[in-house]
Amino acid sequence: MTRAAHGEDESAPSDNSACIFCEPRGRNADLILYTGRLCYVILNLYPYNNGHLMVVPNRHIRDLASTDADERAELMALSRLAEMALGEAYSPHGINAGINLGRPAGAGVLNHLHIHLVPRWNGDTSFMAVVGNTRVLPEDLPHTAARLRPIFERLAKEDV
Ligand SMILES: [Zn+2]
Repeated sequence: MTRAAHGEDESAPSDNSACIFCEPRGRNADLILYTGRLCYVILNLYPYNNGHLMVVPNRHIRDLASTDADERAELMALSRLAEMALGEAYSPHGINAGINLGRPAGAGVLNHLHIHLVPRWNGDTSFMAVVGNTRVLPEDLPHTAARLRPIFERLAKEDV
């Protein structure tokens, strides 16, 4: 299936000017952890846990069906880096990695695909609470970004 047949034209609204994932270098630039070729990694503005981040394709596409092979490869490559970076920075007991497609599934941004990675610790609440809700924790986001950014850069250099 070609991108034209099942991509931007069909799945994306014509107006994406209000899409927070299409304007990552504006007001949310401080939250960006790593910029790849086709995708980037950004902290969630309303984190469930410290280190809650998202892997996002640059293109305004709503679901996995709309991705091309290169985007899928990079989404997974950056999810791998994110897993490693979170492990190094926070030593979580576990990590949730997931995609919410559609409002009933808990998606906060409906039309721009993103993969959540949420560090988890023994004793915090269930996965269903993770995908449906947010809560703010003490560590401020600029501090989190400053902590994770150099780890991403180093891991990406090693991953060649
Ligand atoms: Zn978008």
